[in-house]
Amino acid sequence: MGNFARPKNDHVTSKEMQNQLLKITQKLAELGLNKGTSGNCSVRFGDGFLVTPSGMSMEEMTANSMVQMQFDGSFEQSKKPSSEWRFHRDILQSRIEINAVVHTHSMFATTLACLHKVIPPFHYMIAVTGGDSIRCAPYALFGSQALSDNALQALTDRKACLLANHGMIALGYDLDDALAVTIEVENLCEQYWRILQITQGQINPNPPLLTEAEMREVFQQFKGYGRWAI
Ligand code: 13P
Ligand code: ZN
Repeated sequence: MGNFARPKNDHVTSKEMQNQLLKITQKLAELGLNKGTSGNCSVRFGDGFLVTPSGMSMEEMTANSMVQMQFDGSFEQSKKPSSEWRFHRDILQSRIEINAVVHTHSMFATTLACLHKVIPPFHYMIAVTGGDSIRCAPYALFGSQALSDNALQALTDRKACLLANHGMIALGYDLDDALAVTIEVENLCEQYWRILQITQGQINPNPPLLTEAEMREVFQQFKGYGRWAI
Protein backbone atom coordinates (compact mmCIF):
# COMPACT_ATOMS: atom_id res chain seq x y z
CA MET A 1 0.00 0.00 0.00
CA GLY A 2 2.95 2.40 0.26
CA ASN A 3 2.09 5.64 1.99
CA PHE A 4 -1.48 6.22 0.81
CA ALA A 5 -3.63 8.29 3.14
CA ARG A 6 -6.07 5.70 4.41
CA PRO A 7 -9.68 6.76 3.88
CA LYS A 8 -11.82 7.07 6.98
CA ASN A 9 -13.89 4.16 5.62
CA ASP A 10 -11.64 1.33 6.80
CA HIS A 11 -14.38 0.16 9.18
CA VAL A 12 -16.94 0.05 6.34
CA THR A 13 -17.74 -3.33 4.79
CA SER A 14 -17.44 -4.01 1.10
CA LYS A 15 -21.24 -4.25 0.82
CA GLU A 16 -21.72 -0.85 2.51
CA MET A 17 -19.15 0.74 0.21
CA GLN A 18 -20.77 -0.81 -2.87
CA ASN A 19 -24.08 0.68 -1.69
CA GLN A 20 -22.51 4.13 -1.20
CA LEU A 21 -21.06 4.00 -4.72
CA LEU A 22 -24.45 2.95 -6.14
CA LYS A 23 -26.14 5.80 -4.25
CA ILE A 24 -23.80 8.43 -5.75
CA THR A 25 -24.27 6.94 -9.23
CA GLN A 26 -28.06 7.09 -8.77
CA LYS A 27 -27.83 10.67 -7.52
CA LEU A 28 -25.87 11.70 -10.63
CA ALA A 29 -28.61 10.19 -12.81
CA GLU A 30 -31.39 11.79 -10.70
CA LEU A 31 -29.75 15.20 -11.11
CA GLY A 32 -29.49 14.64 -14.88
CA LEU A 33 -25.68 14.81 -14.71
CA ASN A 34 -25.28 11.40 -16.33
CA LYS A 35 -27.63 9.68 -18.75
CA GLY A 36 -27.70 6.15 -20.16
CA THR A 37 -24.31 4.49 -19.77
CA SER A 38 -22.35 7.77 -19.71
CA GLY A 39 -19.96 8.47 -16.86
CA ASN A 40 -18.53 6.42 -14.01
CA CYS A 41 -17.42 6.71 -10.37
CA SER A 42 -14.90 5.18 -8.00
CA VAL A 43 -13.98 5.19 -4.34
CA ARG A 44 -10.81 4.09 -2.56
CA PHE A 45 -11.47 0.84 -0.70
CA GLY A 46 -9.33 -1.83 0.91
CA ASP A 47 -5.96 -2.13 -0.84
CA GLY A 48 -7.44 -0.74 -4.06
CA PHE A 49 -10.70 0.82 -5.11
CA LEU A 50 -14.29 0.08 -6.11
CA VAL A 51 -15.39 1.27 -9.55
CA THR A 52 -18.71 1.23 -11.41
CA PRO A 53 -19.18 -1.45 -14.11
CA SER A 54 -18.71 -0.80 -17.83
CA GLY A 55 -21.55 -0.20 -20.26
CA MET A 56 -24.38 -0.52 -17.73
CA SER A 57 -27.10 2.07 -17.31
CA MET A 58 -27.94 3.21 -13.81
CA GLU A 59 -31.25 1.29 -13.97
CA GLU A 60 -29.37 -1.99 -14.54
CA MET A 61 -26.76 -1.45 -11.81
CA THR A 62 -27.00 -2.99 -8.37
CA ALA A 63 -24.58 -2.75 -5.45
CA ASN A 64 -23.19 -6.11 -6.54
CA SER A 65 -22.29 -4.70 -10.00
CA MET A 66 -19.52 -2.58 -8.46
CA VAL A 67 -16.04 -3.93 -9.26
CA GLN A 68 -13.19 -4.21 -6.75
CA MET A 69 -9.88 -3.37 -8.44
CA GLN A 70 -6.26 -3.37 -7.34
CA PHE A 71 -3.74 -0.68 -8.30
CA ASP A 72 -1.96 -3.14 -10.62
CA GLY A 73 -5.11 -3.18 -12.79
CA SER A 74 -6.36 -6.61 -11.68
CA PHE A 75 -10.03 -7.12 -10.84
CA GLU A 76 -12.67 -9.72 -10.07
CA GLN A 77 -12.76 -11.81 -13.26
CA SER A 78 -16.54 -12.30 -13.29
CA LYS A 79 -17.06 -8.52 -13.65
CA LYS A 80 -16.13 -5.79 -16.13
CA PRO A 81 -14.87 -2.51 -14.65
CA SER A 82 -15.52 0.87 -16.26
CA SER A 83 -13.55 1.39 -19.44
CA GLU A 84 -12.09 4.44 -17.65
CA TRP A 85 -10.56 2.40 -14.80
CA ARG A 86 -7.11 3.70 -15.81
CA PHE A 87 -7.82 7.31 -14.90
CA HIS A 88 -9.68 6.24 -11.75
CA ARG A 89 -6.67 4.10 -10.78
CA ASP A 90 -4.05 6.70 -11.72
CA ILE A 91 -5.83 9.52 -9.86
CA LEU A 92 -6.35 7.46 -6.69
CA GLN A 93 -2.78 6.19 -6.86
CA SER A 94 -1.10 9.57 -7.33
CA ARG A 95 -3.41 11.84 -5.33
CA ILE A 96 -3.19 10.49 -1.80
CA GLU A 97 -5.58 13.12 -0.40
CA ILE A 98 -8.33 12.08 -2.84
CA ASN A 99 -10.61 9.12 -2.08
CA ALA A 100 -13.36 9.41 -4.69
CA VAL A 101 -13.57 10.19 -8.42
CA VAL A 102 -16.66 11.14 -10.44
CA HIS A 103 -16.75 11.34 -14.25
CA THR A 104 -19.74 12.81 -16.09
CA HIS A 105 -20.88 13.77 -19.57
CA SER A 106 -23.07 16.47 -18.01
CA MET A 107 -24.53 18.96 -20.47
CA PHE A 108 -22.73 22.24 -19.78
CA ALA A 109 -19.31 20.88 -18.81
CA THR A 110 -19.37 18.69 -21.92
CA THR A 111 -20.51 21.54 -24.18
CA LEU A 112 -17.56 23.69 -23.07
CA ALA A 113 -15.20 20.69 -23.18
CA CYS A 114 -16.21 20.17 -26.83
CA LEU A 115 -15.04 23.75 -27.47
CA HIS A 116 -11.78 23.04 -25.56
CA LYS A 117 -12.60 25.92 -23.20
CA VAL A 118 -10.62 26.62 -20.03
CA ILE A 119 -12.97 28.04 -17.39
CA PRO A 120 -11.43 31.29 -16.10
CA PRO A 121 -12.09 32.96 -12.68
CA PHE A 122 -15.30 34.68 -13.79
CA HIS A 123 -16.94 33.67 -10.46
CA TYR A 124 -15.35 33.19 -7.04
CA MET A 125 -16.80 29.64 -6.69
CA ILE A 126 -14.14 28.45 -9.13
CA ALA A 127 -12.00 28.26 -5.95
CA VAL A 128 -13.79 25.07 -4.84
CA THR A 129 -11.92 23.26 -7.62
CA GLY A 130 -8.62 24.19 -5.99
CA GLY A 131 -7.33 26.93 -8.30
CA ASP A 132 -8.27 29.96 -10.37
CA SER A 133 -9.27 28.03 -13.49
CA ILE A 134 -10.64 24.69 -14.61
CA ARG A 135 -8.28 23.26 -17.21
CA CYS A 136 -9.37 21.25 -20.23
CA ALA A 137 -7.31 18.10 -20.86
CA PRO A 138 -6.41 17.54 -24.55
CA TYR A 139 -8.52 14.96 -26.40
CA ALA A 140 -7.60 11.28 -26.22
CA LEU A 141 -9.63 8.13 -26.91
CA PHE A 142 -12.02 7.08 -24.12
CA GLY A 143 -10.60 4.29 -21.99
CA SER A 144 -7.03 4.95 -23.12
CA GLN A 145 -3.88 5.43 -21.05
CA ALA A 146 -3.33 8.67 -23.02
CA LEU A 147 -6.65 10.03 -21.70
CA SER A 148 -5.60 9.16 -18.16
CA ASP A 149 -2.20 10.84 -18.63
CA ASN A 150 -3.82 14.00 -20.04
CA ALA A 151 -6.42 14.08 -17.26
CA LEU A 152 -3.84 13.63 -14.51
CA GLN A 153 -1.85 16.55 -15.85
CA ALA A 154 -4.92 18.81 -16.14
CA LEU A 155 -5.83 17.89 -12.55
CA THR A 156 -2.47 18.97 -11.10
CA ASP A 157 -3.30 20.81 -7.83
CA ARG A 158 -6.99 20.80 -8.81
CA LYS A 159 -10.14 18.88 -7.92
CA ALA A 160 -11.71 19.11 -11.39
CA CYS A 161 -10.94 19.29 -15.09
CA LEU A 162 -12.74 19.13 -18.40
CA LEU A 163 -11.89 16.42 -20.95
CA ALA A 164 -11.83 17.73 -24.53
CA ASN A 165 -14.66 16.36 -26.71
CA HIS A 166 -15.80 14.20 -23.81
CA GLY A 167 -16.89 15.51 -20.35
CA MET A 168 -15.47 16.28 -16.93
CA ILE A 169 -13.79 14.69 -13.92
CA ALA A 170 -14.34 15.82 -10.31
CA LEU A 171 -12.39 14.61 -7.28
CA GLY A 172 -13.36 14.42 -3.62
CA TYR A 173 -12.04 13.62 -0.17
CA ASP A 174 -15.03 11.23 -0.11
CA LEU A 175 -17.96 10.39 -2.41
CA ASP A 176 -20.18 13.22 -1.10
CA ASP A 177 -17.38 15.71 -1.64
CA ALA A 178 -16.79 14.46 -5.21
CA LEU A 179 -20.53 14.82 -5.89
CA ALA A 180 -20.54 18.36 -4.44
CA VAL A 181 -17.58 19.34 -6.67
CA THR A 182 -19.33 17.80 -9.70
CA ILE A 183 -22.50 19.82 -9.05
CA GLU A 184 -20.49 23.04 -8.61
CA VAL A 185 -18.45 22.49 -11.78
CA GLU A 186 -21.58 21.85 -13.82
CA ASN A 187 -23.14 25.00 -12.34
CA LEU A 188 -20.05 27.09 -13.15
CA CYS A 189 -20.02 25.67 -16.70
CA GLU A 190 -23.67 26.59 -17.22
CA GLN A 191 -23.02 30.13 -15.96
CA TYR A 192 -19.96 30.48 -18.17
CA TRP A 193 -21.87 29.10 -21.18
CA ARG A 194 -24.59 31.73 -20.60
CA ILE A 195 -21.95 34.48 -20.28
CA LEU A 196 -20.36 33.37 -23.55
CA GLN A 197 -23.77 33.47 -25.25
CA ILE A 198 -24.50 37.02 -24.09
CA THR A 199 -21.04 38.39 -24.81
CA GLN A 200 -20.63 36.78 -28.27
CA GLY A 201 -20.49 39.48 -30.93
CA GLN A 202 -20.09 42.34 -28.46
CA ILE A 203 -17.27 44.85 -28.87
CA ASN A 204 -15.61 43.46 -25.74
CA PRO A 205 -16.54 39.76 -25.68
CA ASN A 206 -14.34 39.03 -22.64
CA PRO A 207 -16.23 38.85 -19.33
CA PRO A 208 -14.61 40.65 -16.38
CA LEU A 209 -12.49 38.20 -14.38
CA LEU A 210 -11.35 38.16 -10.77
CA THR A 211 -7.71 39.12 -10.28
CA GLU A 212 -5.08 36.90 -8.67
CA ALA A 213 -5.24 39.06 -5.52
CA GLU A 214 -9.05 38.72 -5.38
CA MET A 215 -8.77 34.94 -5.78
CA ARG A 216 -6.19 34.80 -2.97
CA GLU A 217 -8.75 36.55 -0.75
CA VAL A 218 -11.40 34.02 -1.78
CA PHE A 219 -9.15 31.09 -0.79
CA GLN A 220 -8.56 32.81 2.55
CA GLN A 221 -12.31 33.32 3.07
CA PHE A 222 -13.05 29.67 2.26
CA LYS A 223 -10.85 28.56 5.18
CA GLY A 224 -13.83 28.84 7.49
CA TYR A 225 -16.67 28.29 5.05
CA GLY A 226 -18.95 25.27 5.48
CA ARG A 227 -18.21 22.13 3.49
CA TRP A 228 -15.55 23.92 1.44
CA ALA A 229 -13.42 24.85 4.50
CA ILE A 230 -9.81 24.19 3.50
P1 13P B 1 -18.11 2.97 -18.94
O1 13P B 1 -19.55 2.52 -19.08
O2 13P B 1 -17.16 1.91 -19.44
O3 13P B 1 -17.82 3.44 -17.55
O4 13P B 1 -17.91 4.18 -19.95
C1 13P B 1 -18.66 5.36 -19.85
C2 13P B 1 -17.83 6.54 -20.16
O5 13P B 1 -18.20 7.63 -19.79
C3 13P B 1 -16.56 6.39 -20.95
O6 13P B 1 -15.83 7.58 -20.95
ZN1 ZN C 1 -16.90 9.34 -20.43
